Amino acid sequence: MMEVKKEMQVKKAIVGKQTEFRNFPMVPRVVFGKGSFNQLGDILMPKRKHSDAPFIFLVDDVFENTELAKRIPLIFNDQIIFISAEEEPKTVQVDALVDKIKREYQDLPSGIVGIGGGTLLDLAKAVSILLTNNGSSSEYQGWDLVQKPAIFHVGIPTISGTGAEVSRTTVLLGPDKKLGINSDHTTFGQVLLDPDLTQGVSKEQWFYTGMDCYIHCIESLTGTFLNAFSQSYGEKALELCKEVYLGDLPAEESRDKLMMASWHGGMSIAYSQVGVAHAMSYGLGYLLGVKHGIGNCLVFQHLEEFYPEGVDLFNKMKEKHNIKLPTGICANLSEAEFETMISVAMNMVPLWENALGKNWRDIITPEKLESIYRKI
Ligand code: NAD
Ligand code: ZN
Repeated sequence: MMEVKKEMQVKKAIVGKQTEFRNFPMVPRVVFGKGSFNQLGDILMPKRKHSDAPFIFLVDDVFENTELAKRIPLIFNDQIIFISAEEEPKTVQVDALVDKIKREYQDLPSGIVGIGGGTLLDLAKAVSILLTNNGSSSEYQGWDLVQKPAIFHVGIPTISGTGAEVSRTTVLLGPDKKLGINSDHTTFGQVLLDPDLTQGVSKEQWFYTGMDCYIHCIESLTGTFLNAFSQSYGEKALELCKEVYLGDLPAEESRDKLMMASWHGGMSIAYSQVGVAHAMSYGLGYLLGVKHGIGNCLVFQHLEEFYPEGVDLFNKMKEKHNIKLPTGICANLSEAEFETMISVAMNMVPLWENALGKNWRDIITPEKLESIYRKI
């Protein structure tokens, strides 16, 4: 079991406004269960403002022309917008969606429903915020910059791991930074967890996104910000990840457990922070567009000096599922490109402080990071 490195530091755990203790929103309503997607129509009905105020469903385009798409409970002037998760969400994409919805409807929608992985969940969160807050989504990247409540938004994950279904952030690639809109208005008003929806995810993607959850646990549980709140969720999530990736569970039980691991992993970092793998993965994502899940894996495999037990277990999971991570990602980068990645990573100050404490700059230098990036 991971050791608690330092005593409770809850009040320092979160970046942004330096209030004493943060007062967090949580998802107020959640449905869990195989087949619960069939209840979506009933769940949305009381939230319909009137027949001219539609529900807009933002759906991963992997579901276009599938059974699932046919089961979306459309009535009145509701609309499905299929969106590719090929690239992670961008502020320009959010702004374009908001413009489209405002152009097509006189009234504000009754709600936005995101159906997909972290990419679609984050898009749904951001669109719902920007429908009531003026300007571009890039103006809200940061901490507590959102003034007005978002419109009602619902998250329905179809792949487990990111914790985006519970978090109070939506990570966006903007004109000059990759950063979340962290606010009390970001959190979903309703989440529907139907493990059946995660059938059909490829083995590789199941591993990468699931490892996002595993890495959240390791980074939270070994961090200096650790406290009883985060630990309680992190330990449960870690236990579930071990069952899923090292045990031999029947497929259905495995889907159930990974969905709950994702939830607990997300809750664990609410009151703490992530660490080295996430900081460095942001650099890869910003420069090369490497996606969050696989980017975390690419970095994490080389972090044995920071997370010896965590990396050891990661390697066992990788072997068990015969996952081959790509190599040579940073082979042909110029010095300037390394500098960009390193500077993006080093700017994630709270992550480094969580991982290594106040004096992290004694350990983490540009040379140190370059030597790790060169192994990827
Ligand atoms: P994703 O949404 O990018 O999807 C990954 C792939 O899986 C896509 O090709 C998608 O089409 C496919 N997929 C999803 N569900 C499927 C299904 N049921 N069947 C077949 N294919 C399916 O993946 P992700 O790893 O869940 O999300 C990554 C994103 O989440 C990143 O943009 C990252 O920044 C964000 N993120 C957000 C938070 C947060 O708290 N807001 C936390 C972590 C990560
Ligand atoms: Zn993550």
